[in-house]
Amino acid sequence: MIVRLLLWMMLMTAATADAARPAKPVLLIHGGAGVIRSTLTPQVEQAVRADLARALDAGYAVLEAGGSALDAVARAVVVLEDSPHFNAGKGAVFTHEGRNELDASIMDGATRRAGAVAGVRHVRNPVLLARAVMDKSPHVLLIGEGAEAFGRTVGGIDFVEPAYFHTDERWRQLQEALQKEAAGQSSSLGRAIHYGTVGAVALDSHGRLAAATSTGGMTNKRWGRVGDSPIIGAGTYADARCAVSATGWGEFFIRATVARDICARVEYGRQPLLKAARAVVMDTIPALGGDGGVIAVDADGNFTLPFNTDGMYRGWVGRDGKAHVAILADED
Ligand code: ASP
Repeated sequence: MIVRLLLWMMLMTAATADAARPAKPVLLIHGGAGVIRSTLTPQVEQAVRADLARALDAGYAVLEAGGSALDAVARAVVVLEDSPHFNAGKGAVFTHEGRNELDASIMDGATRRAGAVAGVRHVRNPVLLARAVMDKSPHVLLIGEGAEAFGRTVGGIDFVEPAYFHTDERWRQLQEALQKEAAGQSSSLGRAIHYGTVGAVALDSHGRLAAATSTGGMTNKRWGRVGDSPIIGAGTYADARCAVSATGWGEFFIRATVARDICARVEYGRQPLLKAARAVVMDTIPALGGDGGVIAVDADGNFTLPFNTDGMYRGWVGRDGKAHVAILADED
């Protein structure tokens, strides 16, 4: 009898300790989906892999220190925005008029608070302005000059001259797009070779989820075009069960409300995250005529990075705490 009682007490203590022990965090990042194999030079590949690894390190350090998923995704996205190799912040693509107009969003799964900005031209890290919209304004989405005026009132936002965003490679891509357009090869914005938007999703050790996405949009965009990245529910979404950040042909991601659809399948349909994300990326988007990919994590730490293109710049740290970086489809 005494032995059984002792055994029971030991089991209960172990169970309580298990429940109290913080979960191992999870972090996923992406740097855009697209056709990669034919265009990637060894130099660019090396630089992209190094920057993805740096972004993972920066975000995961926040999580390892017990920080929030929200801080971790913002931190990882800032590193990718500051790199010239991704279509966000420093490496943003050019509009038809030769300008850079940046979009970003962030969402906190625990509270379902969200913030977003679109069409900003002087903000070094649009994801931080999106965070400020969430934290310091009563709004969710601010655009253009108004968003920047708000940013100047809150402090802590780094403003830069438009020339900061210029990179020769993105300028060359615009010239190529303009030439094709003039030759009648494509009338306007269409499928991109490589999208290059950046994003992050995380599960922290307290079980909270968050997602963030940042982009320059699509080369040769005009008329104030805004894609899915700053649209909560399309390019970014997080709730208590599920967090998603997307990359791809934004018009289709908006029409399919991609990020929310994945989380709704988990919530209403009780679908496993992997199945939900796969259905939307592999069936819904291609059926509409679009392409791209997502990163997604759920509250149990299950995660997935599906894409329907040749590759997707991506990285993840799962519950084993090991960092992985991959580019092509066959690398997992
Ligand atoms: N989804 C982005 C947009 O349409 C593009 C990208 O993923 O790079 O603006």
